[in-house]
This record gives sequence, C-alpha cells and structure tokens, in this order.
Amino acid sequence: MTAEQARALDAADPLAFARDRFSLPERLIYLDGNSLGALPAAAPAALAATVEQQWGEDLIASWNKHAWIDWPATVAAKLAPIVGAEPGELLVADSTTVCLFKLLAAAARARPGKRKIVTQKASFPTDLYAAQGVCDMLDLELREVSPDEVMGEIDELTAVVSLTHVDYKSAAVYDMRAVNDAAHVAGAFVLWDLCHSAGAIEVDLDGTGSDLAVGCGYKYLNGGPGAPAFMYVAERLQEALTNPLQGWMGHAEPFAFVDDYRPVSGINRFLTGTPPILAMAALAAGIDTFDRIGMADVEAKSRRLSQLFVDEVEGRCGSEVRLASPRDPAERGSHVVFAHAESYAVMQALIARGVVGDFRAPDLMRFGFTPLYTRYADVVRAAEILGAILESHEWDQPRFRTRAKVT
Ligand SMILES: *Cc1c(COP(=O)(O)O)cnc(C)c1O
Repeated sequence: MTAEQARALDAADPLAFARDRFSLPERLIYLDGNSLGALPAAAPAALAATVEQQWGEDLIASWNKHAWIDWPATVAAKLAPIVGAEPGELLVADSTTVCLFKLLAAAARARPGKRKIVTQKASFPTDLYAAQGVCDMLDLELREVSPDEVMGEIDELTAVVSLTHVDYKSAAVYDMRAVNDAAHVAGAFVLWDLCHSAGAIEVDLDGTGSDLAVGCGYKYLNGGPGAPAFMYVAERLQEALTNPLQGWMGHAEPFAFVDDYRPVSGINRFLTGTPPILAMAALAAGIDTFDRIGMADVEAKSRRLSQLFVDEVEGRCGSEVRLASPRDPAERGSHVVFAHAESYAVMQALIARGVVGDFRAPDLMRFGFTPLYTRYADVVRAAEILGAILESHEWDQPRFRTRAKVT
C-alpha cells in the first residue's frame, strides 16, 4: 500500500477523531500502547485539578466533597461498556498482580473440595507467580498446560481456571464462552486476565457468563504508568466470595472503627486499603478517551490495522521475519509479533528511527495497534522502516545490542 492510499484510509476512518484525545509526539510512530498507553490530552488538567483544587484547597473534605471514597467504584463503572459488564460488577484497585491474587484465592476458597488450579504455561509471568503463590498458600496443585490442553485439563477436581484472554506474546485469543461453559459444567470458576483485551477488542463478560476478571489500567485504557488495575466479579458471585486481603475499605462500616471484620455486601468487599486518588484521576481520564466510542468499531479497526501491518511487513521483509501470531485476525488481539534472531537489536534500531514497539524474549518484536490513535499511515510507514532496517542491516551495531533494564 502506498502512503497516499493509507492516508485515504485515515481520511475515511470513523475513529480518526479520537486521536485528538491524546497528546502524542508528532515524530513518533507509537506502537507500544499495549505496554503503556499514550497520554490522554485531558489527563494533565485532570491531575492538576485533583492536586491543586481537591488536595490543595479542600484537603481532607475531598473524601466527601469530591466523593474520593467512591472512586474505586465510580471510576470502574466507566469500564462497563468496554468490558460488557454492569457497573456494580467492577472495581478499580491495587495492581493486576494483587487483583489476580485476591480473586484466585477467593475463588479457590469457595471450592473447598477441589484441589486444582488450571492455567496456561508460558503465560505472563506475574500471572503464573501469583497462581504459584496461591497454590503454595492454600495447598493446591497448579496445572500449567499448553493452550490446546486447557479444555482437557478441566475436570471435577478443578477449582479455578485462570487464563489470559489475549496472550501477551502471540496475541492468540481464547474463546471466553467455550472455556466458561466447560468450567461451569465441571463446577469450576474461571478468572480471566484482560490486560491485553480491555480497550483493544470487544469483551462481553456478562454475555459469555464469566465469573471473574482482572485487567490493567495503563495499557489500552491509557491510565498512566502504574495505574491501578480493575477487578470484575459477576453479581451472582459477590456474596459467595470473600476477599482474602481483608482491610478497612472492604468493611461494611469502615468509619465505625470496630475491631472485627465484616465485609460490605457488593463489589466493594474486594477493596483492601485506601485508594490511590491521584493515580485514579489519571485513570479516569484514560478511560474517558473511550467516551461514546463503541468497542465493535475499535475491534474492527484493530483487525484492519494489524492485518495491514502483517501484509506490509511480509510483503517487504519476506522470509527475514516470521509471523509468530495467529494468521487469522479473528484469532488475534490487537498486537502482532514477528520473530527474528536479532529481534532485540532490530527493535532498538526501529526505536532510534522513531518506531516504538517492544522486544519480548527470546526473539520477538511486538507491535501494538491502538485503534484510538494509531493511523493506517503509521502502520505502512512502520513496515517500510522495518523493511529498510532489515535490508541495510542497520541494526547490526553495538549500540543496539546493549540491553536496558526494562525491555
Ligand atoms: C501487563 C500485564 C500484567 C501486569 O501486572 P502488574 O501487576 O500491573 O504489574 C499482568 N498480566 C498480564 C497478562 C499483563 O499483560
């Protein structure tokens, strides 16, 4: 595709307007919104107002006056149309890892006779570490199997199936409904990690009969570095499950200051400590970038962007790179990985040329497509630059081989 054809696609793109909701450096082609979403244009003023007026002027009164105390639920409620849930099923809190721990332990404890947690091997490491920790603590067995073995592993001994909906490396997607149905037949819960799905593709937690989910605030939701995460607990399970990390924010009467824990009813029982208000102000601005945007449109553009990239890269780079994501766009999330023996150096060379993706060990270059701000012209230009770098071997320099602490 020529640059001109790509610009014509951008001109006809029904989501083109959404790019103005972000502050992006003009010189960059940012294909890493799946690791850290871009800065929402409204975020600096929202943060400044929270700091200067609310914290600075109103001080402690802000817990009531600006309803800070309710933000974990009210900010989360904005996610309802993005993940297909009711507002009262969502909560913003903690980090994804802590949310995973809480919901895994809560679910496992609600199935006392069952001793097994099923998950996928080579999943995002923190998901595995959290599951290993829960299994050690509750004396459960963790079964880490390959994606095609998951369904066969679910049986009457299974307490929880814990899966990442979109794989962080390959972008392969699980069929949510099929896994939920199989788990429910066996009497197990399913915990979905939506880190690479929420804000990228359509997710229908309620419609697929989901039980539990967690997700990240700082990737496709644009909540800022270290933004708090979110939890989903289906309404029908909220009274049956209890939070293993009990704290005053999940108490029925936090300001009664009584000695004994009594969980509040509803989603708030999964809170632990005081919410990080400044981070939540940024996250709210991030989620608001989806205001009046339908996830069907986001998903449609995501698939077109990623497919255009695959076509352009394969057309220009031939067998130099290997697609390591599913070939069918319907089986992918919103990112694409290509394998190359020198992926680290190639990615550093790309970044030096203003095309920002990331590297995932051992040999993958990962490119994320964020439909709210990625343009078709960016995709074509990024593929063109990758082709040029591979052809010229410009990546083959010592400065591109030095590994930074964060890749
Ligand atoms: C990004 C990501 C996380 C991040 O967890 P944190 O607790 O926010 O560091 C967890 N799981 C998956 C699948 C991720 O993609």
